[in-house]
Amino acid sequence: MSLIELKGVKKTYYIGGEIPVRALRGIDLKIEPGEFVAIMGPSGSGKSTLLAILGLLDKADSGQYLLLDQDLSRKNESDYAVLRNRFFGFVFQTFNLLPKLNVKDNVALPFIYSGESDGNKRVEVLSLLQKVGLGERVGHRPNQLSGGQQQRVALVRALANNPLVILADEPTGNLDSQSSNEIMSLLRELNRQGNTIIMVTHEHDIAAYANRVLTLHDGEIIKDERKEKIKAAAIASVDLKEKKKHHWCCVAGLKNYTYEAYLSIVNNKLRSILSILGVMIGVAAVITMLALGTGAKRSMEETLSSLGTNMLMVRAPFRSRGISLGTQGPTRFTFEDLEVLKKLDGVNYAVPYVSGRAQLVYQNKNWNSSVVGTSVDYQPMRDVVPELGRFFTLAEANSRAKVALIGQTVADELFGKDDPVGQSIRINRISFQVVGVLPKQGAAGWQNQDDRVLIPLKTAMYRLLGDDYIQYFEVQVKTAEQMTAVSDEIITQLLRLHRLPEAQRQSIDVMNMAQIQEAASAMISTLSYLLGAVAAVSLLVGGIGIMNIMLVMVMERTHEIGLRKALGAQRSDILIQFLVEAVLICLFGGVVGIAFGSLVSWGLSSIAQWNIYISAGSIVLAFTFSVLVGIIFGLWPAWRAAKLLPIVALRYE
Ligand code: ADP
Repeated sequence: MSLIELKGVKKTYYIGGEIPVRALRGIDLKIEPGEFVAIMGPSGSGKSTLLAILGLLDKADSGQYLLLDQDLSRKNESDYAVLRNRFFGFVFQTFNLLPKLNVKDNVALPFIYSGESDGNKRVEVLSLLQKVGLGERVGHRPNQLSGGQQQRVALVRALANNPLVILADEPTGNLDSQSSNEIMSLLRELNRQGNTIIMVTHEHDIAAYANRVLTLHDGEIIKDERKEKIKAAAIASVDLKEKKKHHWCCVAGLKNYTYEAYLSIVNNKLRSILSILGVMIGVAAVITMLALGTGAKRSMEETLSSLGTNMLMVRAPFRSRGISLGTQGPTRFTFEDLEVLKKLDGVNYAVPYVSGRAQLVYQNKNWNSSVVGTSVDYQPMRDVVPELGRFFTLAEANSRAKVALIGQTVADELFGKDDPVGQSIRINRISFQVVGVLPKQGAAGWQNQDDRVLIPLKTAMYRLLGDDYIQYFEVQVKTAEQMTAVSDEIITQLLRLHRLPEAQRQSIDVMNMAQIQEAASAMISTLSYLLGAVAAVSLLVGGIGIMNIMLVMVMERTHEIGLRKALGAQRSDILIQFLVEAVLICLFGGVVGIAFGSLVSWGLSSIAQWNIYISAGSIVLAFTFSVLVGIIFGLWPAWRAAKLLPIVALRYE
């Protein structure tokens, strides 16, 4: 049984896709187990092409390739990768060691692609390193070694998977004569131990180490000399159909990729930091925007629900074509209306309101705030317990007394740490006595509930704002079931009182708090999604940055990809390797971005007094998004890397 047999193998290249170069013009060749073959010939005669085809790095255009008498013509690229890994060891003129890996990791590279988890083999390889005199150098990087030492490392790597054949392309081309002799002696020693070796060289004294010399000329074998008859080494029959191992799906495989990706990230710090920064800013923006949006929504909901759900708001807005414009319409509510509403069936409280902006002055301090006039029923309806002082009384309300309760913000602005109760302030130049301070309510979205002054309704109407009508009512209904009935009855009564026809029902607006709440939350949700979308765009930009960097990296590492493929890497291996790297960068950017975004949100909440809320959902969202960015934008560069042909990648300079 011959080891390798070529029958009528032809290979033609097309320069610029047009001009044909017939690199091999019908090669017939048999290689027996145990041979040491040198391929010679002038430059351009087809030596490298023949070696690449023998090593399954390239495919012939026509002809047959038999490995251990089994025809390989029907095998695909992926089968070739498995066969290369199992049966071939490569030694190159330029050593092709990976500069970022140490000696030990370099020689163990073929194991990644064979899925070798057997620790014995690794020990074997280490002892081989020892045998070639590199036992002390396992932790060194290739650039810390001499050329001869590097080629010895490459030789040990070629032997790692116990190959059937060692293929060497000008193995001494980059070495001085002493190192050349050392390497050649090693190869001869390996051959004596039964290894088959095929070597390309253009030097006769190197070819002299071989026991068979093929001479090529213009793509044809013109001479085939055997120096000595070797006794054919016995080889056990091997099943070529061994199942492919998808080693990347196992934990050990992923660990390898993650480790390599980690090395690549650490070894290219600036590049990595820039990519991470891009993702980080995007993720931080998403987190902050969502935190702001959710925060606003939550506090709005809290405030509205603190008002109770059985509340109705009664207004007579100005309407244009049925759309409420919110401002006061022609219908003006009166005290008579109030008395009627109070007495309706199912009504707990009906509270009137007027409000306007006013300038507040205390000593030399000025503050502009909202002044609200209301009735004494406001206190029990809203369940208000003044922080300091008391609420105004019915007698004060009826006598239009100039008394006021102030909110926390007003108290802070005008009085600082002093006690406001009993003090006199000026509201639009009219002197009022502060009788109490309202409890803290917090912000409702962007509206500060604590920035206001409460005074009796009639005082507000007749002494301060000059309005002689009530702007709106709040009505508390006894039970939730009565809401609709009460709301209908309110409209009916108000129409009657104002002598309006039934057709004008629209002019009275009775809104349910739950509806207001829904409308407000919907609006804030839309707003926060909008903000989120803007943030997502920045993530996208970060992703494109990563894609750029990855594409450059694939170019830079084309040679490495070629080597990995020669050692048996499948497309999927290369794809996953680059993808893992992209995802790792994004993941890291994501984590840092989440931390940074939380910090910014926290800063905003404490400096600008904005309500923020960072939900677990938004963290998961940002995280998922960053991983997706890694996958999506890493996929194309990774795919470009994966589909490179091994021989093309290896020849890339
Ligand atoms: P050698 O190794 O003997 O120098 P090669 O096998 O490298 O020869 O090349 C054989 C012929 O094929 C040469 O004429 C070379 O220019 C041509 N050739 C090799 N690779 C390519 C390629 N990728 N595209 C076009 N022509 C090529």
